[in-house]
Amino acid sequence: MGKPTGFLEYERETAQVLEPKERIQNFSEFRVPLSEKKQSLQGARCMACGVPFCQSGVMLGGMVSGCPLNNLVPETNDLVYTGNWEQAYRRLKKTHCFPEFTGRVCPALCEAACTCGLNGEPVSTKENERSIIETAFENGWVKAEPPKIRTGKKVAVVGSGPSGLAAAMQLNRRGHLVTVFERNDRIGGLLRYGIPNMKLDKKVIDRRIQLMEEEGVRFVTNTDVGKDIQAKELLKDYDRVILACGASNPRDIQAKGRESKGIYFAVDFLKGVTKSLLDSEFKDQAYVSCKGKHVVVIGGGDTGNDCVGTAIRLGAKSVTQLEMMPKAPDGRAANNPWPQWPRVCKTDYGQEEAIAVFGKDPRIYQTTVSEFIPDKNGNLCQLKLVKLKGEKDEKTGRMRMVPVAGSEEVIPAEVVLIAAGFLGSQKYVTDAFQVEVDQRTNVKTGEGYQTSKERVFTAGDMHRGQSLVVWAIHEGREAAKAVDQSLMGYTNL
Ligand SMILES: Cc1cc2nc3c(=O)[nH]c(=O)nc-3n(C[C@H](O)[C@H](O)[C@H](O)COP(=O)(O)OP(=O)(O)OC[C@H]3O[C@@H](n4cnc5c(N)ncnc54)[C@H](O)[C@@H]3O)c2cc1C
Ligand code: SF4
Repeated sequence: MGKPTGFLEYERETAQVLEPKERIQNFSEFRVPLSEKKQSLQGARCMACGVPFCQSGVMLGGMVSGCPLNNLVPETNDLVYTGNWEQAYRRLKKTHCFPEFTGRVCPALCEAACTCGLNGEPVSTKENERSIIETAFENGWVKAEPPKIRTGKKVAVVGSGPSGLAAAMQLNRRGHLVTVFERNDRIGGLLRYGIPNMKLDKKVIDRRIQLMEEEGVRFVTNTDVGKDIQAKELLKDYDRVILACGASNPRDIQAKGRESKGIYFAVDFLKGVTKSLLDSEFKDQAYVSCKGKHVVVIGGGDTGNDCVGTAIRLGAKSVTQLEMMPKAPDGRAANNPWPQWPRVCKTDYGQEEAIAVFGKDPRIYQTTVSEFIPDKNGNLCQLKLVKLKGEKDEKTGRMRMVPVAGSEEVIPAEVVLIAAGFLGSQKYVTDAFQVEVDQRTNVKTGEGYQTSKERVFTAGDMHRGQSLVVWAIHEGREAAKAVDQSLMGYTNL
C-alpha cells in the first residue's frame, strides 16, 4: 500500500490555508487544495503498516479510534499514489455516501489512529479523500445511479441531515421509493444550517441533492412532521419511516438576567447567518448583527469555535469564548496513548482568527456566567463571570465544577451565543410517533435501528446523541440496511 519508504521520503503536506486576516473578509472556503501531483505523493506516505487502525472504527479508551465508516484507507491511499483516481473513487464509494462532506469537515478519526502518526505526522487521509471525490466530480465520474428495478415499497425519511440523506440514498438505490421530509426551507440539516459556509460551501450540498433527485429521491421542504403532517398519515402512506431529526434541543444557561435581549442559541445564530447569505448575500440583514459589538460565546467546543469565526466575519469588536473545563494538555497525556483519539487542546480556525485580529486566544477556561446584566432598556450590556474549580461530589464520587467564591468579574457583552451542547431529541416528534426515549432523550433502539414502534426506525444524532457527520452517515447507512431487511426479508446493502 502506498510506497513502503514513502513516509521516509516525503513530508506531510496539506492544503494551503489562507491567512486569517484575508479569509475573514468573506464566508468562502479558505483551504486551497494541493495539486494532483503533490496529493499523489501524500498517498505514498501510507506505509503498508499491516495494522490499519485508521479504518477500524473501534472503541479504545472509551472513544472511537479510526474511521466509523471503515473506509478502505490504505487501499485508497495506494490508488491515490499510483494515480488511479477513478479506481480510488470506486473504492471510496463502497463504504461512503458523501466523501465531499467529510473530506471538508471530518475531524479525521482515521488520521488520529494512523501508524505514521505514532512517531511523526499521519498520512493526510482526509485531504486524499477530498481530492478523490473532487477529482471524480471534475471528471464526470459521479453520476446519478437510479435503480433499475423498483420494489414498490415506500419509505419516509424525516430530517435531511447527513443521516437522513445517507439512508435515503441507500434505500432509493436499492429500489424503494423514498421521500425526505424537512422542516427547514433547504435540505441538509446541520450541514446546511449549522456548519458555516467557510467550512462547507453550500453548493457542495446542492450538487449532491441534485444528483439524488435525478436518482428518484423526493424532497419535501418546509414540512414539519408532527405539526404540518401527522405521524399517523406517514404511517398510513409509507411502509417504513426513519426518524433522522437530529439532536436539536440546545442546553440553556440559567442565570439571573437570562431574559435580557441579545442572547441567542448558537445554531439559531449560525442558521440566520447562513440563510441570509444564501437568500440575499446578507442584503436582507436578517441575521444577528455583531458589528462593533462585544460578543461572548459560552462553550469551548467546535460549535463555539464556529460562532467565534462567524462573529469575527460579521465585524465583532471583541470575541471571548468561555469554557467550563480546564484547558486540555497540548500533547497526549500518558493515559491517552496512540491510537486512542487524542484528548488534546486544539486551536481551530476561529480561534486562530481571533488571535490574528485581537492578538490573543479568545478562550477563557474554568469560567462560566453567573449573571447576565441588561441596561435600562433590557438590552444585554455586561456579563458577570465566575471562576470554577474541580471538586469531588461526596455522593457520586465524581468530579464536578463548582464556583470559586470571590472570583467574580464583570466584562462587556452585547451579544451572547450559547454553544453549551444539545440535550437530545424533540418531544413533539417522539410523542407523535410514540417511540421510547432513553434518559438523555435519545430515541431508544434494541441492537439495531428499529425503535419501540413497529415500522419506525431511527438514525443519526436523534439516536446516538450529538455527534459527527461521519457517524450520522454511518448510522443512515446502517438504518437503511435494517429497513431493507425488514421490507424484503434479506438485504444486500
Ligand atoms: C455548529 C455545528 C458545527 C458542527 N460541525 C461539525 C464538523 O465540523 N464536523 C462534524 O463531523 N460534525 C459537526 N457537527 C455535528 C454534525 O453536524 C451532526 O452530528 C450531524 O449533522 C448530525 O446529522 P443528523 O442527520 O443526525 O441530524 P441533523 O444534521 O441535525 O439534521 C436533522 C434534520 O432534521 C430536521 N427535522 C427535525 N425535526 C423534524 C421534523 N419534525 N420534521 C421535518 N424535519 C425535521 C431538522 O430541521 C434537520 O434539518 C456540527 C454541529 C453543529 C451544531
Ligand atoms: S470519513 Fe473521516 S474518519 Fe473516515 S476516512 Fe474520511 S476523514 Fe477519515
